[in-house]
Amino acid sequence: MKIAVASGKGGAGKTSIAASLVLAKRGVLAMDLDVEEPNLGILLGCSPGELRPVHQPVAYVEPDLCSGCGRCAQACAYGAIAWFGSGLPVVNESLCHGCGVCPLVCPTGAMREREKVIGEIRSGFVDGAPFLEGRLEVGGVSTVRLIEATIQAGESLHADDWIMDAPPGASCPVSAVLREADAAILVVEPTPFGLSDVAGVLEVVADMKKPAGIVANKTGMGDLSLDDLCRRFSVEVFARYPFTRSAAKAGARGVCPYRSEETWVWKTESLWRAIERRFS
Ligand code: SF4
Ligand code: SF4
Repeated sequence: MKIAVASGKGGAGKTSIAASLVLAKRGVLAMDLDVEEPNLGILLGCSPGELRPVHQPVAYVEPDLCSGCGRCAQACAYGAIAWFGSGLPVVNESLCHGCGVCPLVCPTGAMREREKVIGEIRSGFVDGAPFLEGRLEVGGVSTVRLIEATIQAGESLHADDWIMDAPPGASCPVSAVLREADAAILVVEPTPFGLSDVAGVLEVVADMKKPAGIVANKTGMGDLSLDDLCRRFSVEVFARYPFTRSAAKAGARGVCPYRSEETWVWKTESLWRAIERRFS
């Protein structure tokens, strides 16, 4: 079973829950798909060794062939081509998504593509089980492409169970992870911001018709009821992790609270039971 661990916003404790699920069950493929800020490996105590660059095409102009017609700039949906009414267009590589449209519309063949490194996939082991991490180049924008490449690398490992640490939010990167998942665990802080943000992810999950469960994290710090949310999206709370200063300190030191807090051990075992009961 492939499980995505997602949250509406950063700081909800998504990666701590994902790491705890990995540590509580041997043999799970752990995958960090929060490619702009991967830190699952830190919490798991894994230093991935092998690196593999991931490429994507980016556009460039062959000046001698360009007629200065501007069609490429008009066609680019990402605003990656600047053209000032005449002369050569300028491609902003950091905005180019390699969609391949501008070479198609260019009447002279001046717009071309070359391969550019957008990030890398790192691999390693956690207690003998495989670990993969996608890591975006600094300033890179090709998040979805790197997530898809990392998932593809995961497929080749033929693991039965996956825990995928998804990016926060409810936009295209998290959708790329949810598409691959059999089910989703959504981590929420019971605060006004937490509830509002997780509702956006639950809408994406509902649109994709994926089964989902809620994990309430840092309870006691915010105590808003999750009842309305659960009713609205027909989901239930699988586990509640209380806020403790010691767990927060462990996380700040890069230690998964599962390794230092007894409560996290039995809460995570109970969470796995809920996952297996509801998603199998
Ligand atoms: S390849 Fe696509 S994103 Fe890149 S510059 Fe051309 S049209 Fe824009
Ligand atoms: S479409 Fe081709 S010819 Fe026209 S401005 Fe762009 S690169 Fe130059």
